[in-house]
Amino acid sequence: MTDRDDDDWIENEEVVVQTPASNVPTHNTRVYRPTASRGNRGRNTDYNWRSRGTNEGQSGRFDDRRSGSRQEGSKKVITIPTDKVGRVIGKGGSKIRDLQDESKAKIKIGDSSGNETDVTLFGTDEAIGKAETMVNNLMEDYKPAPRKEYEEVETSNSQDFFKKNDGGVQVIDWDKLNAFYDEQQNNRWDKLPPIIKDFYNEDPLVKNMSKAEVAHWRQVNNDIQVKRTFDEKPGLKPIPNPVQTFEQAFQHYPEILDEIYKQGFKQPSPIQCQAWPILLRGDDMIGIAQTGTGKTLAFLLPALIHIEGQTIPRDQREGPTVLIMAPTRELALQIDKEVAKYQYKGIKSVCLYGGGDRKEQIKVVAKGVDIVIATPGRLNDLVMARHLNIINFSYIVLDEADRMLDMGFEPQIRKSLFDVRPDRQTVMTSATWPTGVRRLAESYMKDPIQVNVGSLDLAAVHTVTQQIMFVEEDDKEAALFDFLYNMEPTDKVIIFCGKKAVATHITTELCLKGIQCQSLHGDRDQSDREAALEDMLDGTVNILIATDVASRGIDIKDLTHVVNFDFPRHIEEYVHRVGRTGRAGKTGIALSFVSRNDWAHAAELIKILEEANQEVPQELEEMAQRFQAMKIRREQEPGRGGGRGGGRGGRGRGRW
Ligand code: AMP
Repeated sequence: MTDRDDDDWIENEEVVVQTPASNVPTHNTRVYRPTASRGNRGRNTDYNWRSRGTNEGQSGRFDDRRSGSRQEGSKKVITIPTDKVGRVIGKGGSKIRDLQDESKAKIKIGDSSGNETDVTLFGTDEAIGKAETMVNNLMEDYKPAPRKEYEEVETSNSQDFFKKNDGGVQVIDWDKLNAFYDEQQNNRWDKLPPIIKDFYNEDPLVKNMSKAEVAHWRQVNNDIQVKRTFDEKPGLKPIPNPVQTFEQAFQHYPEILDEIYKQGFKQPSPIQCQAWPILLRGDDMIGIAQTGTGKTLAFLLPALIHIEGQTIPRDQREGPTVLIMAPTRELALQIDKEVAKYQYKGIKSVCLYGGGDRKEQIKVVAKGVDIVIATPGRLNDLVMARHLNIINFSYIVLDEADRMLDMGFEPQIRKSLFDVRPDRQTVMTSATWPTGVRRLAESYMKDPIQVNVGSLDLAAVHTVTQQIMFVEEDDKEAALFDFLYNMEPTDKVIIFCGKKAVATHITTELCLKGIQCQSLHGDRDQSDREAALEDMLDGTVNILIATDVASRGIDIKDLTHVVNFDFPRHIEEYVHRVGRTGRAGKTGIALSFVSRNDWAHAAELIKILEEANQEVPQELEEMAQRFQAMKIRREQEPGRGGGRGGGRGGRGRGRW
């Protein structure tokens, strides 16, 4: 797990909307949101919530006693159902801010009398009118307007979902509510048009490959492994053979081929060869692959064909068709950039990420898009605030799923996918295959086919010379400056630090010494991070100091060196850091400072070095042996079951 400490590009934490004077649970429970928001109101559109106060003239002054202030304009009090106040407030107050911005009225949630709550609107008559309409609209069901047949939701009285408990107190009848919601949900999904998934016309050359030819192809292409992730079941189609050319995959989609040709690629990457037939055929797929393997294009091109191939014309669809979730805004932006390179039938995309202009993002979504690329926090935020209709997502990608879980995004992922139709096609990529990712696959995928492009011996690492330098903690800085002073003018380096504070310190030291550099870590705001990357990409600077947020997904093609100033806490992170260099057919050098504090990683590091045919220093071997011996000693000590120092990460001081 990645510590949030130095990796806090995590967006808005979940904010629970308070519903004043209501004991109804808030939207983050499984049942409340959908049931209260859909089942209860059904198709009742004659809400126009009663206005209580008066509209006090065109430009009269009013006395806002609660705030004690006097303001220009009018005020109007309307009442809304207490259990729907959350809709007006939105996550962390986001909706009410939007309402105020858009209507120019000030909105105050006031007193509640049981089932009803006052909402006071302040401002000009026009602003109040607008705000009132907007609030009233929010009280209605979220309905895809033109296709009512999908949304014929039965109405039900909210009282149906309360019962008296043994003590005679009225409580929510969760079983009933759950059953009602499930039924509603199924009804909604049943009424959606079927998803067209199969767009594959297998080329005869591909079809006629013998088993031996397929096995040989896989072996010489990074030893790619392909299998059903879970049990083989009767009736499942055999795993398709890999294509070997772009034409074999897309000969029936000449515009797609043209877009590929524009990129000047010579041939499909191994994951593309194997993923395209699977995805074009409509199967779910898990790609165990890291950035740099061509995984984005592997899932993107079939997505474009999927979007265009559905029965309902794009401009008549309620909401976008494809969702790509990515762990960090950098990766989301990178995917967005990749998507923008491929023009197909006017397909539009939007990138939704925390730290970006929320209002602007909402505007783009409202205008209509086909692909949503989003980080989980912002996605969840916009779904909850009802800016994004997810009913029509029929092709979903969870990119770098392991990273999303490491960053604690599982609740947001689960919440965001809750309403998405279950018959969708789902793609997941992950650099590793831990239990959490497996669980996610079990929950959200149907008979997925798994394509492993190397495991920890990732292709990129094989093109990197991995050097180890043994240093005392206190000598690291001097060693780093030594390295930097010896850099060639054409060298480009990322220096990885374990903590934001260390990254900041090194950056400051370099600046003081007049060495130009950039930094990338969680304390920097979005525009600074983007500028830092841009500076590295265009060569304005050739030194980037970063925490692990930059270790994945960042694609700086001409990076020559990676320096691990602090050894990463998890060996997976080492692989990802090292993989930042040696990309796109180039070679690279990774230099890792290893201090006695890092002895717990020695054994794992040796494995990676051996796998990649690298020299294993004698000191590293000895370090691993000492750590192992210490662990055994600790375990044998009476009363200590592998105590401090011996646990994961074993930060106790080692002896050389
Ligand atoms: P990804 O693994 O998706 O992060 O891709 C890394 C880089 O490889 C991106 O810049 C892609 O444009 C590029 N790429 C994708 N497919 C190919 C290909 N078949 N040949 C060469 N480069 C590719």
